Amino acid sequence: MQDKLKELRTRLGEVTDLYQASAVLNWDQETYMPPGGIRARSEQLSTLRGLAHQKFIADEIGQLLADLAGPASELDPDSDDASLVRVTQREYDKARKIPVELQAELARATSVAHNAWVKARAESDFAMFVPYLQKVLDLVIQKAEALGYEERIYDALLDEYEPEMKTTQVEAVFAELKAEIVPLLQAICERLDAVDDACLHGSFDEQKQWAVTMDVLKLMGFDFQNGRQDKAAHPFTTSFSCDDVRVTTRFDPTYFASALYSSMHEGGHGLYDQGTAPELERTLLAGGASLGVHESQSRMWENLVGRSRNFWRFYFPRLKTFFPGQFDHLDAEALYRAVNKVTPSLIRVEADEVTYNLHIMLRFEMETEILEGKIKITDAPEAWNAKMEAYLGITPPDDARGVLQDTHWSSGLVGYFPTYSLGTMLASQLFDHIRADLPDLDAQIEAGQFAPLLGWLRQNIHCHGAKFTPNELVRRVIGEPMQAAPFVTYLKTKYGELYGI
Ligand code: ZN
Repeated sequence: MQDKLKELRTRLGEVTDLYQASAVLNWDQETYMPPGGIRARSEQLSTLRGLAHQKFIADEIGQLLADLAGPASELDPDSDDASLVRVTQREYDKARKIPVELQAELARATSVAHNAWVKARAESDFAMFVPYLQKVLDLVIQKAEALGYEERIYDALLDEYEPEMKTTQVEAVFAELKAEIVPLLQAICERLDAVDDACLHGSFDEQKQWAVTMDVLKLMGFDFQNGRQDKAAHPFTTSFSCDDVRVTTRFDPTYFASALYSSMHEGGHGLYDQGTAPELERTLLAGGASLGVHESQSRMWENLVGRSRNFWRFYFPRLKTFFPGQFDHLDAEALYRAVNKVTPSLIRVEADEVTYNLHIMLRFEMETEILEGKIKITDAPEAWNAKMEAYLGITPPDDARGVLQDTHWSSGLVGYFPTYSLGTMLASQLFDHIRADLPDLDAQIEAGQFAPLLGWLRQNIHCHGAKFTPNELVRRVIGEPMQAAPFVTYLKTKYGELYGI
């Protein structure tokens, strides 16, 4: 058995090396590559990923997994070896189900559709994008059919990003969330002026903002021996191993909160990647349990820590040292209130904690309704705008600020959006649990001591990598399934107090 495990690890090492090398190229493309590099880069990326895919779906890996199935079932299911066989088998089965031609056709169609989307968005012309989107969705449906599902076609797509999560589960938690958030938002909208964020708007030197983001990342425990931060138009995190994790951020010289919270968000992702157990490296067990669990880490640092009153009591005096004279007339409470201002807005990526999930629910509903034939693609803008009006009380003036705003669909990423909200909900549920384990958590944050929180996350979440599915991981850590209630309570308590509701 040991020989076969060794061979499996060697083969998976080669597969992950190729993927990580493509991740380096992708990181470079988003940070430093000159615009002219894109043509050659697309070829390089597609070659590397194609090679990785071919190596992974090789018959030899299937044979090794078949040989190892018996012996692995005798092992402790929590062990690295048993998990390696279990998780690799699951991913191998999925990868083998998608015909190579379909994979290639999807890559081509999404590359063309992405360009069409950029143009359609610039001209705010959805009709122009329709034929390309139709083609991508046709292929996405073929992919879902190839992967197979028991109940809903969306299940097959969701499973790609959130293993074992079902559409009906998402519908149930979203219904609960919507029933609470829509009336909360309506109440806040009656008192929008109760919170003032004027202090975040003005002129903020980029060098000083950079220094703040680096300071906060260090305080969080992000390890710069094994990671770095750079600038990117659309912040993201990527890792080439647990010893080389890259976070990115962006700066708005007129709005202070943009860079700080981009860095805290990506820093949360980065800490997760740096915390993977080294033994899991160069296998499919490295990295996070799912996009949703990953997002629970980023949202926890960004919102539950970074937008808390305790954080600002600690950080406000430090902030003043970076911007001499600029925040002198304010206090910690003013900053706390400002960074939590609620504004129903058209654009998802600019949304606050209260409205953000409504943007996600809208997209999830659109996706399931389009896939199930309840909305025709040509009617998508009207359906989008009607939902915006119903949930947020505003109507997009054009498609660029409506149905065309996100890149996901042009890239074939259908089933991805719910993970943002699942992560947000999980963050609150985990945080309640951590608070019970670490009764001094709030005092520690107020004292700028983040090591106990990071230590807890390392021990209970990060080190496991992708050994467990999200449902398994949550059950192991919290002892109950994922729930919306802790997040709802958090929102109602926090924003009820802020807005005097
Ligand atoms: Zn994120």
